[in-house]
Amino acid sequence: MAGYAMAYLDPPEMVGKEQYDIAVWARRIRIGETYLPRALALVGLNAPKLANQLYASYPTLASALAGGQYAFSGFALWETTLAKVIYHVGIPSIQFATAITIVDTWQYFLHRAMHMNKFLYTWLHSRHHRLYVPYAYGALYNHPIEGFALDTLGTGLAYLVTGMSIRQGLVFFTCSTIKTVDDHCGYAFPWDPLQHITSNNAAYHDIHHQSWGIKTNFSQPFFTFWDRLLGTTWTGGDVSSRYERDRISAQKKVDADKTKLEPSVTNSPAVDLAKAQEQAAQSQQSVMDAHGPAPIVEEQREEQEIKRNLRKSPRRRTGTFDPRSSLAASVPSLHGRSTPILHADVHNTL
Ligand SMILES: [Zn+2]
Ligand SMILES: [Zn+2]
Repeated sequence: MAGYAMAYLDPPEMVGKEQYDIAVWARRIRIGETYLPRALALVGLNAPKLANQLYASYPTLASALAGGQYAFSGFALWETTLAKVIYHVGIPSIQFATAITIVDTWQYFLHRAMHMNKFLYTWLHSRHHRLYVPYAYGALYNHPIEGFALDTLGTGLAYLVTGMSIRQGLVFFTCSTIKTVDDHCGYAFPWDPLQHITSNNAAYHDIHHQSWGIKTNFSQPFFTFWDRLLGTTWTGGDVSSRYERDRISAQKKVDADKTKLEPSVTNSPAVDLAKAQEQAAQSQQSVMDAHGPAPIVEEQREEQEIKRNLRKSPRRRTGTFDPRSSLAASVPSLHGRSTPILHADVHNTL
């Protein structure tokens, strides 16, 4: 919106060329009309004679048939109208269709190469595939070199090749980004138009992010024709049972993690238990040397009591806020059931 406002406020040299370009197209239409008599002669029609007969009731049509011979100077209304349609609709449609094809082609082959080549996958693309449960902003979570090669270069090339204006580029880059974010959002909302314009959508790309679908559905971000042409579309049919199986195994992992979450700092991966025991033994020894065994016995009794209390109150087990437990309790899992929502239980696999 800000970009559009800026383009609208640009000085005349940035936005004033439209009238000239429309006039150029009107001129081209007029030149095309000069070939009409010869073209009609090929199918056995005498254009000048036909124009004379029609002139009284259809002067504009007669003038066009006569090879663009108008009684007035300047362009006819139909010529300027057609020129405007070509300029505002026809040319931009061709530009956008070509740009979309370029981006889809660029991304399909680079993306597929990054899955076929082990080095490219481990070095670059595996970072994006840390997302087994895609979420909107994860769309652009990738290695910076991959981001440049796949997204920046791909769309930049399409922009340059199709000769887009700055304003067109603005729309194109914004739409491309919105599309890829939407395809990673993890939701297939029925009212989301982006999910219905093409067959490439969140459900389609989500399969590519699963361990069982990673070698399929390479097409992104707009259409899926390359996957269909080269036979890399997911052909395993209904995926709901697979998602359900993944959901159950993720839930098991979460449950296993919870049982491991014993109190104190032992949850930290950086802890060196052997060293900690050695440190504790040294500390106890120095207390013994200074005060005898009484303080240590007292400390052990207190620790036992605290442990007992913690076991009774599971909410205080870790002493920190655990978003998984509270979310799991408050949000029903929708994943894998007959629902349009994919990966609604993101918290299960955090
Ligand atoms: Zn991939
Ligand atoms: Zn992705």
